[in-house]
Amino acid sequence: MDTTNQTDLAALLRGLPSVDQLARDESLADLPARVVVREARRVLEGLRDAARRQAASGGSAAPSFARPALLARLREAVQSSLARRHRRVINATGIVLHTGLGRAPLAAAARAAIQEAAGYAVVEVDPRDGARNQRESAVAALLVELSSAPAALVVNNNAAAVNLVLRALAEGREVVVSRGELVEIGGGFRMPDVMAEAGCRMVEVGTTNRTHLRDYERVLRAETAMLLKVHPSNFRVLGFHAVPSLAELVALGRARGVPTFDDLGSGLLVADVPAALSEEPSVRESLAAGASLVSFSGDKLLGGPQCGIVLGERALVERVRAHPLYRAFRCDKLALAALEATLAIYRDGDPLAEIPTLRAIARGAAELTAIATRLHDRLGIAGSRVCASESFVGSGANPARALPSSALVLPGGARTAERLRCGGEPPVCARVADDGVWLDARTLADEDLDEVARSIARALA
Ligand SMILES: *Cc1c(COP(=O)(O)O)cnc(C)c1O
Repeated sequence: MDTTNQTDLAALLRGLPSVDQLARDESLADLPARVVVREARRVLEGLRDAARRQAASGGSAAPSFARPALLARLREAVQSSLARRHRRVINATGIVLHTGLGRAPLAAAARAAIQEAAGYAVVEVDPRDGARNQRESAVAALLVELSSAPAALVVNNNAAAVNLVLRALAEGREVVVSRGELVEIGGGFRMPDVMAEAGCRMVEVGTTNRTHLRDYERVLRAETAMLLKVHPSNFRVLGFHAVPSLAELVALGRARGVPTFDDLGSGLLVADVPAALSEEPSVRESLAAGASLVSFSGDKLLGGPQCGIVLGERALVERVRAHPLYRAFRCDKLALAALEATLAIYRDGDPLAEIPTLRAIARGAAELTAIATRLHDRLGIAGSRVCASESFVGSGANPARALPSSALVLPGGARTAERLRCGGEPPVCARVADDGVWLDARTLADEDLDEVARSIARALA
């Protein structure tokens, strides 16, 4: 490194403001001071490193240390750090179970239960005699009561539930599955990989569009541990298509002494199924068809916290629970508390009114139009209009069928949507189409409309 560069570097570094000088700038007074100081330190360190690297490589073009540029960079760093926080957002996408937005919003009772369980809580102890008990015995009892399944088990999510069931009951042995059900759920959950990871040998039968009972029958042998049925969740095969019913698979399995495991995915447990979900297989149907085990997510159609639920024959459920990995997959107390409160609504309350997911799915045309119209009138944005819209259940339930809805359509495009996300407090997530930014009423709760209107007005001000 030559001496000119060394001198340049020293001068450059001396020219940088201190963390304090930068962070105290009046123009940043609207941002939280702690975050400004933390990010100022990071920005200045980054600049020093860049200058040193440049000097070392013999380059002479110095990075810009002009104060306005520094302040702009710092403001952006603070905003980006704030934006990444886990916090409330307004879901105006019309996708009820939006994985990016945390899937199921919890019922009021479940939120309260989380709040209460956040301190010390009854988790693995029976308060009557102080004896240690099963962590999920209360929710398991509720699940058994609601589903009429003989036994229940709860883990962290359905991916864990499927993995644990396969490991506990089929490791080192064969699992038979239709080629039409070798699905990828998303986020790397691909059925063939899941089975390989669980140490099972996958035996594929049938074709992509058609699988017959005789295809299963042909491959059954002593090494067969299980017949697996997977809900195709996020796609539909239309046209020339056939799969044996779950009841037929169960009958075949029983005749040959092989259990049938139904990975339902969604977990529709409500007795009074909204019309929009009439094609979705329910937990009850699966158990009634005789599945030995059924698994599903807690945060899809059930409308509860993230967890994976396994229902079915007691001996099988106990073998799954006894597997060493159960300990790694177990639920935390907050999820258990929220699940218990959610299930209590199914038992004692009115799920279609109290579970936000089900309420959103069950909303009718008149209510949706009223919500979109109220928002339209409230905001009074020039060029905005109320339009018929298409909303979706999301997270793999009913993928092919749009639910008719209503939307407030704002003039603008991706830039306007970005302003709603970045400037809204809370951020507003909307859908961008060719003709504007769509705020779908299906996922906007009526009681939240004041806040939604305030947030949009602020973002677009
Ligand atoms: C969603 C889904 C899963 C994964 O469930 P998570 O709770 O997201 O882990 C597994 N199988 C099916 C069929 C699904 O739809």
